[in-house]
Amino acid sequence: MHDSSAVRASNSASARLLEIFDRLLAAYGRQGWWPGSGGFETIAGAILTQSAAWSNVERALDRLRAAKALAPDAMLALDESDLAELIRPSGYYNSKARKLIAFCRMVEEDFGGELNSLLSQEPEELRDRLLATYGIGPETADDIVLYAAGAPTFVVDAYTRRLFGRLGIKPERDEYEAWRSMFMSHLPRDAQLYNEYHALIVRHAKISCMKQPACGACVLSDACVAANGAGSGAA
Ligand code: SF4
Repeated sequence: MHDSSAVRASNSASARLLEIFDRLLAAYGRQGWWPGSGGFETIAGAILTQSAAWSNVERALDRLRAAKALAPDAMLALDESDLAELIRPSGYYNSKARKLIAFCRMVEEDFGGELNSLLSQEPEELRDRLLATYGIGPETADDIVLYAAGAPTFVVDAYTRRLFGRLGIKPERDEYEAWRSMFMSHLPRDAQLYNEYHALIVRHAKISCMKQPACGACVLSDACVAANGAGSGAA
């Protein structure tokens, strides 16, 4: 591809991604994810939501709040088994208790217990630090960078892959970093935009682009490769 063709293709991908955002926003409005919640609660939620429905995470967070354990020092004061019992509603509670403790230890040992010192690092530095922490993979790290630190990084989850795979907008390699890079290289580095976009993707994937998609009422149907492909259903 010549340079000018590459630039046109890149501009067109940017325009498509922004148009999809605009359509989803027009259809669903602002989603108001994690408004005003404290940083640590958001982080605990990001860890607890691994393989769990959000309603169960909320039950676990309620129990942590009632036990006054929603801070790194308070959580470290608990026995691991007691912490596991508190977060039982979120599932995989023994493993998640270990992950929460590993995160809290990192904050205590490397940042003097000051969560803001961790979260105020440069976004990529913060992301690397999180990825080096036990139990934090790329999706959880990006949840924390975006929703707790308010810094620009694009969260890629199964809903994102399903929706954009069906729309025919996907990277050459089906790998987390390739998906993240596709969004971040074609969209402005804007935490508010990424925050809202991810929330809208989840909303659309839950009520329209489900495993069995409801294409008839979908606001993206005219732009969807899977819905319009010759004889193909959505992937
Ligand atoms: S048209 Fe169907 S497959 Fe395509 S985005 Fe909409 S619901 Fe998903």
